[in-house]
Amino acid sequence: MHDNTPSALSILKKRFGYTRFRGAQAEIIAHIQNGGDALVVMPTGGGKSLCYQIPSLLRPGMGIIVSPLIALMQDQVSALVQNGIRAAFINSSQSAHESREVMQRAAAGDLDILYMAPERLVMTSTLAFLSQQQIALFAIDEAHCVSQWGHDFRPDYLHLSLLAERFPSVPRIALTATADGITRDDILHRLAMGSATPFVAGFDRPNIRYRIVIKNNPRRQLRQFLESEHPTDSGIVYCLSRKRVEAFAEWLCDQGYRALPYHAGLPASTRRENQAHFLREEGIIMVATIAFGMGIDKPDVRFVAHMDLPKSVEAYYQETGRAGRDGLPSTAFMTYGYEDVVMLRQFVENSNAEENIKRIENQKLDALLGLCETTSCRRQGLLGYFGEEHPGECGNCDACLEPAETWDGLIAAQKALSCVYRTGQRFGVSYLSDVLLGKHNERIQQFGHHRVSTFGIGTELNNKEWRSVYRQLVAAGYLMVDISGHGGLRLTERSRPILQGKQKVLFRKERRGRNRSGSERTTVVKRQAVVFDSAADRALFETLYQLRDRLAREQSLPPFVVMMDRTLEEIAVKKPINRTELAMIHGIVERKLEQYATPLLETVEEHLRKLAQQDI
Ligand code: ADP
Ligand code: ZN
Repeated sequence: MHDNTPSALSILKKRFGYTRFRGAQAEIIAHIQNGGDALVVMPTGGGKSLCYQIPSLLRPGMGIIVSPLIALMQDQVSALVQNGIRAAFINSSQSAHESREVMQRAAAGDLDILYMAPERLVMTSTLAFLSQQQIALFAIDEAHCVSQWGHDFRPDYLHLSLLAERFPSVPRIALTATADGITRDDILHRLAMGSATPFVAGFDRPNIRYRIVIKNNPRRQLRQFLESEHPTDSGIVYCLSRKRVEAFAEWLCDQGYRALPYHAGLPASTRRENQAHFLREEGIIMVATIAFGMGIDKPDVRFVAHMDLPKSVEAYYQETGRAGRDGLPSTAFMTYGYEDVVMLRQFVENSNAEENIKRIENQKLDALLGLCETTSCRRQGLLGYFGEEHPGECGNCDACLEPAETWDGLIAAQKALSCVYRTGQRFGVSYLSDVLLGKHNERIQQFGHHRVSTFGIGTELNNKEWRSVYRQLVAAGYLMVDISGHGGLRLTERSRPILQGKQKVLFRKERRGRNRSGSERTTVVKRQAVVFDSAADRALFETLYQLRDRLAREQSLPPFVVMMDRTLEEIAVKKPINRTELAMIHGIVERKLEQYATPLLETVEEHLRKLAQQDI
């Protein structure tokens, strides 16, 4: 099975600049090379592309890559061409003349890799053309688009099953980062790939640090997060509504960050421009609704910050997964609050979906809240949701780094629940805590709730602490938010054992900030990106960074297509002084050597010379 490994390996080094395969890449490549079909399920950043790019180079003919992301084809192809690979794309953004030229190259056997949108591939003329060419393989990227269960259903994908009939001897490889089993089975079924071998990788993204905090002052929390951990990095800030996207983007700009908005309400041209800036320039923060993201092929997104709750754990995983595709340390930061829960529940309630779909969506939201409120390892919880076991104590999430203190909350929970009951199960958190605290305000008087037995029985906690108690009770399913009314809280079946004192309740302790009203969780984890041994190495890295910027601008390419951060870091640390040493650096392929060896080596030499002079 591995008889191809040496040549696959040499391509890996020569064309992609890497020394070894990751995970199941070698196996998958061998399988396709031998003509087998495969379903590849790997997390974002796992290295799916090589699984079809290398077999396209190894097998006779060209590999046809089906991708829904027309906007990204250009960059994908530029990156390959930069590595000296004969690649092109055909899509609706080209003139007829341009696509004709690509077809001619294909017909002349001058292409190894050809990208296409699904609607183009299934056109009669395209199929007729392809049936006369030698095809190495068909790769169906973002394959979950074929499934209605997936989050990006595209009807055009349904037609791709015809590849099985039209090209029975050409191997097919379907790829997705979507983890759940229903979608996976659906893909195999709908693409008529019943006999494909599944390759399912683990879903852990060890380089992503997860942190989830209670929302109290989102702007200040975001600013603190950026200042302390990602002052100059590229990242994505997700918000739930268009209005919030615009407000946050504007505010970030006022704070001196380079932020751009992205949501479905902006004209297509603005969206395209903003996306291009984000991809091509350093240090831009994209503030977006979830409309932004699928397949954002930018490897150096250093953080994803959710200012509002996503819809589900899957959505959280997908969205945070856009950080750190290059494998370098990155952060997934989220603030969430009780208001988010009410709002999302209302979304579900007001949608036109059937009751059972609504129920599932509510369950999904519950699972997400569970993840937010957990006091144990977030990574373990996250992977557990996808059925993957993780021993916990990952050392790279807030729960592991700053373990939450807990307190025995049975009595408080009983007071909180009975207050809900005594006031008629229709009030929200603020009102309920006022009753517990014995406040004599107008509303309470009006409803006569200064006479209920729970009035004033909760003075041992303050307002913020009662809010936290209620939030945690909702997250754990001991209370539910009644969205048919005004978002009041109601008891559930699970409330009873607590009221009867039969159930243990542990609450997460809210940290009190330095001042009482201040932030309860200051960000204590410092940015842990590359640590250079010396200031000199860092200085060299920065010079290289500027060099890359210039090279990228000269060729109008995104900087990461010219060279990855990781490549620059390795050069700064190892300081190669000749081509042979430079060729050993991660990401330096033959073609890059030809193009960039001179400026890179000159920069290193100049640096070493300056250092030597200082020593004297
Ligand atoms: P996916 O499509 O699964 O999200 P990519 O194919 O874009 O992931 O790969 C993510 C990153 O990892 C890219 O920068 C890619 O060049 C890099 N990569 C992939 N395979 C390897 C490998 N074997 N060694 C080192 N880096 C790799
Ligand atoms: Zn952890």
